[in-house]
Amino acid sequence: MSEKVLIHPAVDNGVPHTEEPNFAGATLTCHCKTDPVKVHVGAQVAHNHACGCTKCWKPQGAIFAQIAVVSRDKVDVTANGQKLHIVDPNAAIQRHACSVCGVHMFGRIENTKHAFHGLDFVHTELSDKPGFAAPTFAAFVSSVIEGGVAPRRMDGIRARLTELGLSPYDCLSPPLMDALATQAAKLAGTLAA
Ligand SMILES: [Zn+2]
Ligand SMILES: [Zn+2]
Repeated sequence: MSEKVLIHPAVDNGVPHTEEPNFAGATLTCHCKTDPVKVHVGAQVAHNHACGCTKCWKPQGAIFAQIAVVSRDKVDVTANGQKLHIVDPNAAIQRHACSVCGVHMFGRIENTKHAFHGLDFVHTELSDKPGFAAPTFAAFVSSVIEGGVAPRRMDGIRARLTELGLSPYDCLSPPLMDALATQAAKLAGTLAA
C-alpha cells in the first residue's frame, strides 16, 4: 500500500483493547476549552464501531466516526446542557451536539417503533478514562465516498479496516441488520410481535 490510510485517531495505531468487563461508565466531554458540555454514561457500551456515514460526528481529519450504543436511561447531561442543540430534529437519530464546538454528545431515537429505541449513540473517544468496549466492526464503509473520499481509495480503506480487525460492512453489522429486519417484520405482521 503506497498510501497511508487513516481511519480514526482512536484506532489508527491499532484498536486499543482497554475494555473492562464490569465497567461502570465514564464522563464524555465536548471539545470546548471553557464550559464544556459533560455527559455521564453510567454503563458499558455495546456494538462500538467505526462509522462511515455522513451524519455521525467525526474528529478533524478522520474519515470514520467511532460510535457505540448504551441504554438511554444511563445517559445524563451533567454540565452545560444549555449549549446542546439537536442537529436535525427530523432524523431518526436526534444528535444532541454542542452548539459551540460542534461535537455530538449523544444521539437519541424518539420513535418508539424503531428497533433501536431505548438506545443512545455515544462517541467513546470523548471519555475521561479508558474502559469502554473497543470497536469491533466498521459500518457504512461505502458511504465515506459521499463524505468526499475518492472511490479509488476504497480497496485500501477496506484492507486497513480488515487489518485492524474491524470487519467492513456497507450497512450495519449482521446482528444489527437482523435486529432492524426483525422489527420491520414484526411491524409488518410477518413475524409474531
Ligand atoms: Zn463544546
Ligand atoms: Zn454513522
